[in-house]
Amino acid sequence: SSLSSDSTILIVGAGTWGISTALHLKRRGYKHVTLLDPYAVPSPISAGNDVNKILELGTFAAGADSSERYVANTLINEATKGWLEDPVFAPYFHETGCIIAATSDVGRAHMNSASGPSEDAGWLPLKTKEDFQATMPKGVLTGDFPGWEGWWMKKGSGWIHARKSMESAAREAERLGAVFITGEEKGKVESLIYEDGDVKGAKTLDGVEHRADRTILCAGANAGIIFDMKDQLRPTAWTLAHIKMTKEELQLFKNLPVLFNIERGFFMEPDEDKGELKMCDEHPGYCNWSVDPQNSQRSSIPFAKHQIPKEAEERARGFLRETMPHLADRPFSFARICWCADTPNRAFLISKHPEYPSLVLGCGASGHGFCHIPVIGGFITDAMEDKLDPRMKHSFRWRPETAVNRKWEDLQDRFGPEGSNRMMNFGDIVEWTNIQPEIAEAK
Ligand code: FAD
Repeated sequence: SSLSSDSTILIVGAGTWGISTALHLKRRGYKHVTLLDPYAVPSPISAGNDVNKILELGTFAAGADSSERYVANTLINEATKGWLEDPVFAPYFHETGCIIAATSDVGRAHMNSASGPSEDAGWLPLKTKEDFQATMPKGVLTGDFPGWEGWWMKKGSGWIHARKSMESAAREAERLGAVFITGEEKGKVESLIYEDGDVKGAKTLDGVEHRADRTILCAGANAGIIFDMKDQLRPTAWTLAHIKMTKEELQLFKNLPVLFNIERGFFMEPDEDKGELKMCDEHPGYCNWSVDPQNSQRSSIPFAKHQIPKEAEERARGFLRETMPHLADRPFSFARICWCADTPNRAFLISKHPEYPSLVLGCGASGHGFCHIPVIGGFITDAMEDKLDPRMKHSFRWRPETAVNRKWEDLQDRFGPEGSNRMMNFGDIVEWTNIQPEIAEAK
C-alpha cells in the first residue's frame, strides 16, 4: 500500500534505533506508530542501556574509501548537531573532548591512517606519560602509560549519558503518540507475518498478530533471530565493568575527556547517580557460536549475563594499571556483556528489503551506533520513504553478496592487547567474574 500519514507503522525493538525511529516518525506526522519489545524502556538487553557512550571519535572510517568517509562524516556531523541542538538530547551530551591512543606499531599505524587525527584537524599530539597525565586534573591519571602515543581533541566530542538520552527520546515519542507494547510475552516478536510475497507485521509470543502497513526491524543483535539476514549481521559482544568511587574521587573526576586506547580500553567520567566509573576493556569481540547439525551453518546467539569473563576483568585491570593504578585492584560493583551486531564492513544496514517491499531494516549498528540516536531514526524513515541521499543509500544497502563465505574471525579493524587480538568465543570461557547479584540487579 502507498505510504501516508495514516499508514500503520510497526517497529520491532524499542532499543536505541527503534526509539529514535519512533521519534522521527512522530515528528514527521505519522499517526499510527507502535513499538514492540520484550522489555520496557530501557531494555536490559539493549546495547544502549548503559551509563555512558562515546560520541564517535571519527576513527571508524579509517581506511574506508571516500564515499564511505562521506557517509561516516555526514552521520557524525548530523549526530553532533542533534546532540548540540535538539532539546530531547542536548541535556545528556558532555562536550568534554577526547583522547585517542594506541600502543603497538600496528595500532599506531591504524590510529594515524589518512582519516585519523592530525594537528591540522585540531588534535594535540601526546607522546609522554606527562603529556597524558596533563589532560586531566592532577591525581586522576597516575599511571605510567607504557608505550602509549596519542592525540587529544579538546572540543567537538565527548560522552553522552546513554540510558538517560534513550529514556528521554522514548518519553518524547510517547508524548507525541507512539505506542509502546512491552512484556516478555506481549512484546517479544516471534516471527514476522508473511503474506502475498510481503511482510504484513509481526506476531508476538502471546499469539497476537500486529498487522501494519510497514514493519521496521530494529532488534539490534537479535534481528537475525527474527529475520534471515543472510550472514550480514554477526552478533558480537563486548564487556564492561564498573567500580565504585569515593566522594573525594567524584569531586576530582569531573568533566574529564574520554580516554580511549584502541588496544587497551576506555573510560569516561563516573556516573553522576551511582558514583561508579565504567570502563570497557578493548578487544575484537566475543561471539557465542552454535553450529546447526543439519547444515553446519554457524550462528552467534546473543544471551544476557551480568558477569564478564575473568580474562576481561584481567584486561580491564591491566588498562587501569597503565592509566590509574591506584584503582586497579578495587572490586567491581557491576559488570555485563553487551551485544551489538557487525556487518562485514561495519557500515550500517538501513534499507527496504528488496523482496518484501513493506519491510524496512534498521540494523547493523556495528559497535558505533549509539551516538547516532538523535538522527538515525530520520535516516531509517528516509529509507522507508525512498528519500535517502544516493551515497547514504548505497552504503546502507541490503548487501548479502558481501557476506558470502563471510570470514567470521575477521577483526573488523579492532584491536586488543597481546593474546586478545583475535575474535573470541564465549563457548571457550570457563571462568567468569563473581560479582554479587544483589549489586548487579540493583542497577
Ligand atoms: P539495541 O539498543 O540493543 O536495541 C535492540 C532492542 O531490540 C532491545 O531493546 C531489545 O530488547 C529488542 N529486542 C530483542 N529481541 C526482540 C524481539 N524478539 N522482539 C522485539 N524486540 C526485541 N556506540 C557508540 O556510539 N559509542 C560508544 O561508546 C559505544 N560503546 C559501546 C560499548 C559497548 C560495551 C557496546 C556493546 C556497544 C557500544 N556502542 C557504542 C554501540 C551501541 O551501543 C549500539 O550500536 C547501539 O546501541 C545499537 O542500537 P540498536 O537499536 O541496534 O540495538
